[in-house]
Amino acid sequence: MDRIVLKTPAEIATMERAGAVLHEVMDLLAEQVVSGITTLELDRFAKAELEKRGAIPAFLGLYGFPGTLCTSVNEEVVHGIPGPRALREGDIISIDVGLVKDGYYADMARTLPVGRIDEDSRRLIEVTVEALEIGIECLVPGKRLGDLSAAIQTFVERQGFSVVREYTGHGIGQKLHEEPKVPNYGQAGRGIRWQPGMVICIEPMVNAGVAATRTLDDQWTVVTADGMRSAHAEHTVAVTADGPRVLT
Ligand code: MG
Repeated sequence: MDRIVLKTPAEIATMERAGAVLHEVMDLLAEQVVSGITTLELDRFAKAELEKRGAIPAFLGLYGFPGTLCTSVNEEVVHGIPGPRALREGDIISIDVGLVKDGYYADMARTLPVGRIDEDSRRLIEVTVEALEIGIECLVPGKRLGDLSAAIQTFVERQGFSVVREYTGHGIGQKLHEEPKVPNYGQAGRGIRWQPGMVICIEPMVNAGVAATRTLDDQWTVVTADGMRSAHAEHTVAVTADGPRVLT
């Protein structure tokens, strides 16, 4: 296992600028999410907006991934490939996007409604966002990795939903995926202690039904095993002496 790379305050400031660009592009993307738009159109829009701001799409070409965005609709959990699928009223879409700017990565995800969505989907998204917020609150010096993992899992399962096991959050910096891995399940009191200078992507993936997933024949798209919907939310967050600082 690689070691955890601590960032200086100057590096965190650079990452915060990268994160601000990413947040801005995500807000613009959210406005594009309407019935009829295809996931490929969203992808092209994101690439252009990132490049306009001097940023490089982080996912494009990474491990061979063909998109700037991961677009995961309804029962798709993560890693959906942008393509000709047109969004329809009532869908939910998870948009995961990363960039590199001035040598540092930022990574975030949001699940958005397409027009009016049913009450179960609305609650699924709401619980996912709240799970992320609960995770962020755990990112304080002295608390442990397992405290964060357990807090997310406990909260989600109390709402009657489940957390995906196969994919996790991660450290981030001059690489998109650094140590440590940050599972959305686990036991409190275990694992490394958070220290100022760690920068972490927290990204709960919450399923309405069972936790199990499978990967489609395209080798990328992860879907729920039972076909029920899934939501995803992610921020890049720095641990500081004063507590968590959300960079995206
Ligand atoms: Mg991530």
